[in-house]
Amino acid sequence: MDKPGIVIAGASGRMGQMLARTVLDSDQARLVGAIERPGSPWVGRDLGEAMGGPALGIVVTDDAVEAIAKAQALIDFTTPAATVAFAELTAQARAVHVIGTTGLQPADLEKLKAAARHAPIIRAGNMSLGVNLLVGLTRRVAAALGEDWDVEVVEAHHNRKVDAPSGTALMLGAAAAEGRGRSLDELRTPAREGITGAREKGSIGFAAIRGGDVVGEHDVIFATAGERVVLRHVATDRAIFARGALRAALWGQDKGPGEYDMADVLGL
Ligand code: NAP
Repeated sequence: MDKPGIVIAGASGRMGQMLARTVLDSDQARLVGAIERPGSPWVGRDLGEAMGGPALGIVVTDDAVEAIAKAQALIDFTTPAATVAFAELTAQARAVHVIGTTGLQPADLEKLKAAARHAPIIRAGNMSLGVNLLVGLTRRVAAALGEDWDVEVVEAHHNRKVDAPSGTALMLGAAAAEGRGRSLDELRTPAREGITGAREKGSIGFAAIRGGDVVGEHDVIFATAGERVVLRHVATDRAIFARGALRAALWGQDKGPGEYDMADVLGL
């Protein structure tokens, strides 16, 4: 079988460029297109040259319909509005849609669910193997420790990140809630500021740090009287997310319509 053709959305972005390089370096997939938003200075330029290297013969386009028609999978780390629009197009083209975009709201998720009736959607707030293992560990530790242990998720990211808490922090919080047989919506503490009152027993809190070029750090803290357990993941290279996303795009090739996550892809 031919190597699957991959198109990258948001090709000029931090993750977009990393994804393009990862697909180009892979011997299991072909890079067949690069999409940017209308008006982006990258549109119409050769992708390789725009990234500061030799020409690749792939012209960055704002015509997503045409680009997706040539591909077996779209890898999309962009914005919620763009991701929702791309999901309709991948559904029509019956192409795999790998979504790394974070900050999606409930209404966005409803639209993805509708699109996933026609083609596979693989979405994860974090595509790294290490974080997905941490999610499983968090679920088990939360189940083992019970409500006397306060759960706090603390994350740090670079100073250009626009959403908080991070998608990964929310995945970790959801795993801790699941470990306790509850949902994160029931247990989540709103952002703290001012006179918040004492901590509510059993709740799950979040704190976000933003600065410099931090790729991504997540601590899940379980704290009780006299002791603390801290589960930590530190990402030092965005390539881990890009490699995970490519693995998801390849994994999805023989899957039917539906919504999947990285635990499915990694067989965790
Ligand atoms: P970024 O550098 O801002 O990249 C986003 C890119 O998407 C930009 O190039 C942007 O173009 C482009 N874009 C926006 N609207 C578009 C549209 N309608 N069509 C095509 N392209 C469009 O951000 P980033 O750091 O790469 O992160 C992107 C997303 O991935 C964020 O949600 C982030 O949280 C998430 N992320 C997820 C993971 C994971 O493992 N799941 C890991 C890292 C990051 P302009 O700049 O020209 O507007």
